[in-house]
Amino acid sequence: MTIATPPPASAIPALHEDDHEQVVIRQDPETGLRFIVAVHSTALGPSLGGMRLRRYPGGMREVLEDVLALSRTMTLKAAAAGLDLGGGKSVMLDDGRAELREARLVAAAGVIDSLEGAYITAEDIGTTTSDMDLMAGHSRYVVGRSRERGGGGDPSPATAETVFQAIGRGLSHATGSAELEGRRVGVIGVGKVGSSLASRLVGAGARVIVCDIDTERAERFAVDTGAELAPSAEAILGLELDVLCPCAAGGLIDEALARSIDVAVVAGAANNPLTGRAAARALAARGILYVPDFLANCGGLIHVASEWYGDSGPAPADSIARAMDRLEVAMATADAEDLTPHEVAERQAFERVERARPPAR
Ligand code: NAD
Repeated sequence: MTIATPPPASAIPALHEDDHEQVVIRQDPETGLRFIVAVHSTALGPSLGGMRLRRYPGGMREVLEDVLALSRTMTLKAAAAGLDLGGGKSVMLDDGRAELREARLVAAAGVIDSLEGAYITAEDIGTTTSDMDLMAGHSRYVVGRSRERGGGGDPSPATAETVFQAIGRGLSHATGSAELEGRRVGVIGVGKVGSSLASRLVGAGARVIVCDIDTERAERFAVDTGAELAPSAEAILGLELDVLCPCAAGGLIDEALARSIDVAVVAGAANNPLTGRAAARALAARGILYVPDFLANCGGLIHVASEWYGDSGPAPADSIARAMDRLEVAMATADAEDLTPHEVAERQAFERVERARPPAR
């Protein structure tokens, strides 16, 4: 089907719609593996998205919900970043059995390999470049490998780069100036991306307040960089800030929180930091600019995509510049059409996917 005119915003699928091409659930009694791969779309190319390894109190049902939403976001991200890639994601349930980790990663690589290129993995929360090096020994469809093993290395600094640029664009749009000197910025989570981002913000003269559930990590970071330390995410969410940067897991801001936080811009690394459209609408109604997550954090995907393409793909700096231009367009169009930048960017990304989709029989 060819879409001649853009669908109205109301026709855009809801955030958690399960319009996926393929979902594979693998439970392996030998290794205790509990693993789900979700391929949302391969219309633009093979799906690429990181492998998450973390605890889920709600078990496999919660894993499934997370991986379905995340893989859909990856479709948006690849399309918005101008990459010829689709959207996919995988999640492995962490039950604390560290001694089984290696065997499970190998088993997961086997599952990914059996999909014959429909899904390419990389690191995400709870996984590292050395995990990708290990898995690459068991599947061709692994990127984010270390430079020593021929990969592009950790994508997190590239993710921090686009978040940093998106903060500047967002501040400029919301306040008329991209200047960071003296701005109050709260960073929730100082892991791989959050620490890189917060260091750059401190370097640019911002007053950065950080927290992490790993309190030692946050304390160390604060001592090393001169950032201020907050005791918890809740403490940061109670502050008056110029920019709030969610850099931990998703689902941080629900509708109630969107009605109470006192910030000008929300822009961070976390995928799906809002619980849904109602939260996005509540932020917009209060004049808080929410920079679409899949545009703010697309640098990491651009980085691992260039590893996948080898030298034949687009230059990462060009892709980043184009993605930031799309963010500008989304913010300006949102103002003109009384939509949120997220709705506009989502529409633009899905239009690109629709154009690439083969005609329905
Ligand atoms: P990470 O695991 O290295 O860091 C996450 C940090 O958040 C950890 O230090 C963790 O202790 C902390 N944290 C978790 N829950 C918290 C809470 N409730 N309050 C405060 N801190 C909390 O992960 P990362 O690679 O830095 O990714 C961060 C986010 O960015 C994730 O949502 C990820 O999906 C997203 N993202 C990452 C990349 C990348 O290149 N790594 C790319 C795109 C999006």
